[in-house]
Amino acid sequence: MRNEGLGSWPARRARKTPHRTALVHGDSTVGYAELYERTTRLAHALRARGVRRGDRIAYLGPNHPSFLETLFAAGTLGAIFVPLNTRLAGPEIAHQLADSGAGTLVYGPSHAGLVAGLPGDPDVRTYLQVGAGYDAAVAGAAHEPIDEPVAADDTCLILYTSGTTGRPKGAMLSHANVTWNAVNFLIDKDLHADEQALVSAPLFHIAGLTVLTLPVLLKGGTCVLVEAFDPGETLDLVARHRITYMFGVPAMFERIARHPRWAAADLSSLRMLSCGGAPVPTPLIETYLARGLTFLQGYGTTEALGVLFLDGETSVSKAGSAGVPHFFADVTVAGPDLTPVGPGGTGEVLVRGPAVMSGYWGLPDETAAAFTDGWFRTGDAARVDEDGHAHIVDRIKDMIISGGENVYPAEIEDRLLAHPDIAECAVIGVPDAAWGEVPRAVVVPRQGAELDPDEVLASLVGRLAKYKIPKSLVITGELPRTASGKLLKTQVRRRYGTPEGNA
Ligand code: AMP
Repeated sequence: MRNEGLGSWPARRARKTPHRTALVHGDSTVGYAELYERTTRLAHALRARGVRRGDRIAYLGPNHPSFLETLFAAGTLGAIFVPLNTRLAGPEIAHQLADSGAGTLVYGPSHAGLVAGLPGDPDVRTYLQVGAGYDAAVAGAAHEPIDEPVAADDTCLILYTSGTTGRPKGAMLSHANVTWNAVNFLIDKDLHADEQALVSAPLFHIAGLTVLTLPVLLKGGTCVLVEAFDPGETLDLVARHRITYMFGVPAMFERIARHPRWAAADLSSLRMLSCGGAPVPTPLIETYLARGLTFLQGYGTTEALGVLFLDGETSVSKAGSAGVPHFFADVTVAGPDLTPVGPGGTGEVLVRGPAVMSGYWGLPDETAAAFTDGWFRTGDAARVDEDGHAHIVDRIKDMIISGGENVYPAEIEDRLLAHPDIAECAVIGVPDAAWGEVPRAVVVPRQGAELDPDEVLASLVGRLAKYKIPKSLVITGELPRTASGKLLKTQVRRRYGTPEGNA
């Protein structure tokens, strides 16, 4: 087999475990032999439409088997798969299509209207709608094996980073990056061949794709694909499919734990839950640990293709820690001069290793700025404890400097979330004549709760240093978030960050 990449996985699995179930979607299942056949047919269909090595194939739609078929078909041809965020507006989609130079767009029926009305002039020549032209193309194509040479270092994915800061950039990830990331999981999470994974995090984001789905498929397990996350449905699916492993961002796990059926739900099949993508509040971790579940925190970035630090079995008692580096990730926490900080110190997380991207698509200057001496600079601050466990403190650029003290909003948010009447919160810095900046809390009360700002702020006294206690508190109905549940701090700052503003 001359294909050293992701495109060869279905063939290899079909050879080894043809009858096992790879994917479940609603009432339908796709076995490994069928996944290989459908992927090969799709690759033939794409090749007949002019797709060649290095061409970009974009995908726009919710979690569905066609997402993975298209990913593997692209990999079979040495083409590059570009998953698009399903929540983006038309102009944002058009921009990413044009930026990546995608010549093919596969899309779900839910996005047909948006695709028909795309503004501008993306250079897409082939449009395939799932359930329509896509299905016809797969059914009508040949299924002989395709023997296209694909090297491990070829780019196979362009993932636009979630864009919580600045303009979205396409991280270029290679077949080797994907494989090493999956190997990290097989080693550190000890994934089993009978893993039943629930994939309700979006596949277009690294969390759904590379933390969950690809490692499980490499091992021969089953992925249950869910189009839209719903906490009640999650509890039902866990029981129905005897789910062993799932990933969610903190907001998803919060909603599950608040669901009326949470207490009575059958969670006995769950072997581990993994949470990350945003700061994981300690009270949330404690809720799951109290239920007797293994609840691990992972910390990662798109650019490092998934997880850098992973909470291991041994550190479960260290609720709040993101754990130790993944097996094949070289991670350091360093000061501005790149000298590693000692135990107890706080610095920036830097990573290098076989899962780290080669750079940003078409952006040599941004790529150069993202690396120093071969280390990718995550822009995240972490504290390392005496056992070498990392505690992610916050985004460096979200840090507030108040009277010369560094204040990390995540620490204050963690405390605020322990308040029984607060459902969500964000802490930002606002300009202040005396202190330079002071923290302000923006909070969403729990449904039906009456929040008294003075009482909330008073509840922090004695729990946080005085300079960390917000000087004002704004109550709101909703906080702006990305599709993957990440808080859009820039928008929160814009809306609530003026000195007099809204407080
Ligand atoms: P993305 O590339 O979209 O996955 O975003 C990566 C960013 O999410 C990181 O740089 C962090 O700022 C944040 N993040 C991911 N996992 C965690 C975590 N466990 N704790 C705190 N922040 C996290």
